[in-house]
Amino acid sequence: MDSNILIGLVQRYPRDIFPSIWDSIEESVALGESCICEAVHREVYRIGDDLYKWAKKLPGFVCSTNGEELATVKAIGQAHPEWVQGQVNEADPFVIAHAKFEGSDIVSEENRKGPGVIDKNLKIPNVADEHQVRVLKFFDYVRAEGWSF
Ligand SMILES: [Zn+2]
Repeated sequence: MDSNILIGLVQRYPRDIFPSIWDSIEESVALGESCICEAVHREVYRIGDDLYKWAKKLPGFVCSTNGEELATVKAIGQAHPEWVQGQVNEADPFVIAHAKFEGSDIVSEENRKGPGVIDKNLKIPNVADEHQVRVLKFFDYVRAEGWSF
């Protein structure tokens, strides 16, 4: 999951109103079907303490970054040197690298740009394409999990 999914949950589906969405996500984490990478967890820290703590307390939700993922992040940086600028898009290469390592899909609300888009304006789906990683929107993920609320 990309940061924008967690932010969207907090902003549009607060737990006091939509508890079953949160319960379902927690169940999928327990089954090993959903996770975030460390870089997303760090990004979430900037957004809200409650969200950060919720993620931290959920066993198996935050995946640590391994050497293979760092190599992918480095390759992405070499292919698109202007993509990550400071905190802008900082977690994105890690999200792609983690999904590639796991052979999993990314869940993100980012839209594919282009063709011919400059590095600075690249979105996760553009770069994920280059690494044969599929990107789902939040509702695609909910449908893939077979949930309805
Ligand atoms: Zn993971």
